[in-house]
Amino acid sequence: MKIFYGLVMVLVILMIGACAVKARKKNGQLATIVFLYELSACVCGVIFFIYTYVPGVTLTVLCKGLIMAMFDWMLVMLMNYTQYYTGMFKSVPAVKLTMIAYSAFETVAFIVNTWTRWIFDVTDISKDQIIVQFNKVNVIGVTHYIYTYGIMLLLLLSYVVMIKRVSKFYRFRYFAILASISAAFLLDVLTIWSDSIYDMSMLIFGVMSILLYYFPFEYVPNELIENTFSLIIKDMNSGIICFDNAGRCIYCNGIVKGIYGIDDDVNAVEKNYAAWIAEQDEHVNRKYQQTIETGDDWRKYDIAYNRIFDDKGNFICDYFIFNDSTESAKLIEQEKYKATHDSLTGLLNKEQFYEETARKIKEDSSNKYCLVCSNIKDFKLVNELFGIKKGDEIIKLQADLIKQSSEPGYISGRIQNDRFAVCMPKDRFNKDIMENSITMMQDTFNNASFKIRIVVGVYDIDDIDEPVSNMCDKAYIAIETIKNNYETNIAYYDDKLLQRTLEERRIIGEFEGALANKEFKMFLQPQVDVNGNAYGAEALVRWQHPDRGLLSPYFFIDVLESTGLIYKLDMYMWECAAEKLSEWKNRGDTSHHISVNISTKDFYLIDVYEVMTDIVRKYDINPALLKLEITETALMSDLKKNMEVIRKLRKYGFRIEIDDFGSGYSSLNMLKDISADVLKIDMAFLRATENEIKGQDILETIISLGSKLGMEVITEGVETEKQLMMLSEMGCHIFQGYYFSKPIPVDEFEEKYMN
Ligand code: C2E
Ligand code: CA
Ligand code: CA
Repeated sequence: MKIFYGLVMVLVILMIGACAVKARKKNGQLATIVFLYELSACVCGVIFFIYTYVPGVTLTVLCKGLIMAMFDWMLVMLMNYTQYYTGMFKSVPAVKLTMIAYSAFETVAFIVNTWTRWIFDVTDISKDQIIVQFNKVNVIGVTHYIYTYGIMLLLLLSYVVMIKRVSKFYRFRYFAILASISAAFLLDVLTIWSDSIYDMSMLIFGVMSILLYYFPFEYVPNELIENTFSLIIKDMNSGIICFDNAGRCIYCNGIVKGIYGIDDDVNAVEKNYAAWIAEQDEHVNRKYQQTIETGDDWRKYDIAYNRIFDDKGNFICDYFIFNDSTESAKLIEQEKYKATHDSLTGLLNKEQFYEETARKIKEDSSNKYCLVCSNIKDFKLVNELFGIKKGDEIIKLQADLIKQSSEPGYISGRIQNDRFAVCMPKDRFNKDIMENSITMMQDTFNNASFKIRIVVGVYDIDDIDEPVSNMCDKAYIAIETIKNNYETNIAYYDDKLLQRTLEERRIIGEFEGALANKEFKMFLQPQVDVNGNAYGAEALVRWQHPDRGLLSPYFFIDVLESTGLIYKLDMYMWECAAEKLSEWKNRGDTSHHISVNISTKDFYLIDVYEVMTDIVRKYDINPALLKLEITETALMSDLKKNMEVIRKLRKYGFRIEIDDFGSGYSSLNMLKDISADVLKIDMAFLRATENEIKGQDILETIISLGSKLGMEVITEGVETEKQLMMLSEMGCHIFQGYYFSKPIPVDEFEEKYMN
């Protein structure tokens, strides 16, 4: 019996020792606490072993005393452990300090007892029992028991409180510690008063010591894992649904229920699952997306389908994980919308319009489509005069009107600023309807303070492979042709227009080089009296093109004006004229003048006064001989400023001719405001009028009005003797026209008119 008891004891001591070593190897505060406890228990066990098996009264008394002292130290460590584990008395350092002080005192007292026997004595040692006799006078023995049982009760209480407090998952851990401490405590109480050396409480303490290591470090109950996982799953933001091998739904968390709007009846889900599984070619893990409509709204889910097998490859279950990707999907959609739509109007932006139109006409190549592009005339002016805000308002309004009149199958977009484009089936385009809607749009915008003109270009799509940007360009080329034609708001593109545009580009491309190469020639058309004697001439430009021969100004002047290049040509011509005048002056001829043309655009582009006076100074000529032809429209565009330039030029000595008077929207009224020297009437307007008599009356009136205002009157475009006679009679004395001469090279002019 004694040997068996001893073996068990050694085993327990070794196990406690092993726990101590294992705890030592672990990190953290808890590991240190457990290690210290295990160490004290191990030491206590060793002493108990000596106490039980080594004979000798003194040694037995010493061991008994040390056991009681070690018990105090074990309690200190147990308190340490309990404080950490339960958090009780953690904030009361006095508890531990008092215990340490008390244990130290008892240790000394029990060691001293070995020699004094003032606390207890061993009266008899036999095979099975050791009789310990306590000294009734000394109270240390009694206090030891009161103290140790008191502390143990306190510890037990801590665990009882903890069991009540913690989640049920952890309750078992505290309960096990409580049970082992209680068992040790009870057995100790039971055996304390017996003198048997088989002290079971010691073994129970040993087991308890092992448990104290086991619970914090080794014990992870399956149930705890399962419960924790199921709670995590329940708490997860992902939806999870799981089906067993028979297709029965064995788990479904709240999120999935929310997604499918199901309560606890999973019948419908099981049916869906069965149908879904039946559709799958192969049952393999896969990921897919699903959009679920919820009323007007929708939500998008990333779904992962997974299968689980056991070690032997037997199928266990299927599960689906639902992750809500609605937010990011909506964000992407928003970004996509932003990238493809115009932010101001919500119509497609240029790139998207091109893309969708190209796709549409290719997909539906059996139908003919046309492109209708619109433009607000002088929209820049609207922005300048009324502000960007008003401009934006008009753009938005137009976009809204376009949206309203759009039908299914139409594609509309905002190409640029005030430019919109609509791609529509050709047979749906109706000129009258289009005109009406243009009028409606104009009426919507127009008010007393300003009027807007919307112009539309139509391009019939023939070649579906042509880039849509080209198609739009062509519609806008068409618009260019009606920019100044107020009779219509709709223009159609045809290939001649493209030809013209290409022509224009060629002119622009070649212009600067031609100017540098002096390909532009000054021709002179005489201005004569009734007998054909020249007073002077008008300088008219010709382009001596190396490949294309002599080009008329009608061919290139408009392009140069619209691109703002005209001032370069004009300045060149003015210098040619000035140079010629200076040559004539040097030859002693100062009776012939040269009239040069000043383009309307020149007034915007250069300081005409500066340039003209510089030229006169450079060639040292009389400014009166360099006459300046200006059209009324040039003056009208910025009347006040231009009048000032004219005034200065006249003051300097130049003579000003009003060119083409009567051709445009002439206003007789203007004549009183303009201080010009010469009025140049264009015969062309006479030819154009149906009522010749009336025209003649007007002509006569203008001539006499000019004379009355002190102006010299020239008539140009005189082609017949009859016209000459008539004009003569009307009081005009200077003429220019084919009747006398076409514009001719300078040397020819000199030869014919200056000798
Ligand atoms: P314009 O200034 O009104 O010039 C008169 C035009 O009428 C000239 O055409 C001339 O050849 C033409 N003409 C003269 N007499 C008759 C006639 O009896 N019957 C007809 N049918 N036509 C006649 P051209 O030289 O072809 O010039 C055309 C226009 O080009 C000019 O009209 C002028 O506006 C512009 N132009 C010509 N040279 C220059 C220039 O150096 N600078 C600028 N800015 N414009 C120029
Ligand atoms: Ca002229
Ligand atoms: Ca003219």
